Amino acid sequence: MNFDLTDEQREFRHVVHTFMEKEVKPLARHTDESHEFNWTAVRKMGPLGLLGLQIPEQYGGAELDSISTTIATEELAWACGSTSLAISAHNCLGMGPILDFGTEAQKQRWLPHLATGKGRLGCLSLTEPGAGSDLRNVKTTAVLDGDEWVINGNKMWATNASIADTIIVLCRTEKEEGTRALSHIIVPTDTPGVIIGAPERKMGLNGSPTHAVTFDNARVPAENLLGERGKGLAQTLTTLTKGRISIGSLALGLAQAAYDAALKYAHERETFGTPIGNHQAVAFMLADMETEITASRHMLYWAAWLKDQGRPYAKAAGMAKLYATDMSERACRNAIQIHGGFGYSSEFEVERMYRDTRLMSIGEGTSEILRMVIGRHIMAGTE
Ligand SMILES: Cc1cc2nc3c(=O)[nH]c(=O)nc-3n(C[C@H](O)[C@H](O)[C@H](O)COP(=O)(O)OP(=O)(O)OC[C@H]3O[C@@H](n4cnc5c(N)ncnc54)[C@H](O)[C@@H]3O)c2cc1C
Repeated sequence: MNFDLTDEQREFRHVVHTFMEKEVKPLARHTDESHEFNWTAVRKMGPLGLLGLQIPEQYGGAELDSISTTIATEELAWACGSTSLAISAHNCLGMGPILDFGTEAQKQRWLPHLATGKGRLGCLSLTEPGAGSDLRNVKTTAVLDGDEWVINGNKMWATNASIADTIIVLCRTEKEEGTRALSHIIVPTDTPGVIIGAPERKMGLNGSPTHAVTFDNARVPAENLLGERGKGLAQTLTTLTKGRISIGSLALGLAQAAYDAALKYAHERETFGTPIGNHQAVAFMLADMETEITASRHMLYWAAWLKDQGRPYAKAAGMAKLYATDMSERACRNAIQIHGGFGYSSEFEVERMYRDTRLMSIGEGTSEILRMVIGRHIMAGTE
C-alpha cells in the first residue's frame, strides 16, 4: 500500500496551487459580490490543462488521471467556490458525457473547442421543475422530424448555461415509460428556440451562473443524439457517479480554505492574554477540522484510485461525497465560530465559504439519495 502521490501529481498540485493563489483566490470576494464569472482567470486555465482535465491529448485535453483531477478540483475550490463549480461542471458534466458516450465525429467536433479554452464552457441540463432526484419524471421532449430533433420543455438549475457553447439536454425521446425513455442530445446554445433565463438568485456560489432554460421548438441535427437512443438515464447515472468525486473535492477544497483561515486567525486573535488557539475549546475545533479533512481527502483519493484501476467505485464515490460534503459544512461553520463576530461579517471570507459549501450536499445526488445508493450497494454486496 502506498499513500504517496507520484512526483507528477505533487508537481501538478504545486503548479495549480500557485496559479490559484495568484489568479483566483484574490478575486473570490469580488466574484461573489459582483456575481461576475471570472473569465479573466478561466482564460488562463487552458494552458494548465484545467479546462480539459481528463480529455485525451488527441482532443486537446490534459489526459490526467483521476487523482490529479481530484487535486485540481480541490485546489480550485480552495481558491473560489464559484469558479470551481463552473469548471467542475464544465469538465465533468459538460464534456464527460461526450467523451464517454459520443461518436468519434462528436468528440472531434466538440471536445477540442471546449477543452482548450478557445471556446466557452460546457453544460449538462438534467433537472426540471418537477424532476431532480427522480429524473424518470423528465418532461422535456425531443421528437424526430426528418433529420432533426425538435426539442420542447423547461429545464432548471443549469450551471454554466449562459457561459456555455453547448448544453447536453436530457430529453424524453421514447413513448414508453420507465428507464429506457430518455436520451441525451447536444444542443448548441445559439440554436434558435433555446431561451436562457436570468441568473438564479442564490445563497452562495454567486459567480457561478445558474439558469432555467426553455426549449421552444429548438431544432438540432439528428446526429446530435449522444450515444444510444433510450440510454439517457443509464448515462446520467455513470456521469453523476464520476461527478460525486468532483463535488466531494469541491467540498474538501472549501473546508481546507476555511481551516487555513481559522488556523491563521487562531494564532493572531488574543483573548485573556493568549492566542485563542491556546484555549482548548478552539484547539479542539481545529483538531476536528484537520481530522475530518484528512479523512475526506483519503476517501476521495481512494474513490479516484479505484476508478483509475477500472474497479467498481460507485459506493466509494457516494460515501466520499456524503462524508466530505457534511464535513465541509461542519468545518466552515466552525471556522466562523473561531472568528467570533468577525466570522459573520462579509469582510472575512469564511462566511462566503459557508454559503458556498451548502450546495454540495444537494447537487449531483442529495445526501439522502446517496444514503439510498450506498445502502443498496451494502445490501446487494456490490461496490
Ligand atoms: C446551484 C445549483 C446548481 C445546479 N446545477 C445543475 C446542473 O448543472 N445541471 C442539472 O441538471 N441540475 C443542476 N442542479 C440541480 C440539482 O442537481 C438538484 O437540485 C438536485 O439533484 C436535487 O433535486 P431537486 O432540487 O429536484 O430536489 P428533490 O428531488 O425534489 O428533493 C427534495 C428533498 O427530498 C429528498 N428526497 C427526494 N427523494 C427522496 C427519496 N426517495 N428518499 C429520501 N429523500 C428523498 C431530497 O434528498 C431532498 O432533501 C443544480 C442545483 C443548484 C441549487
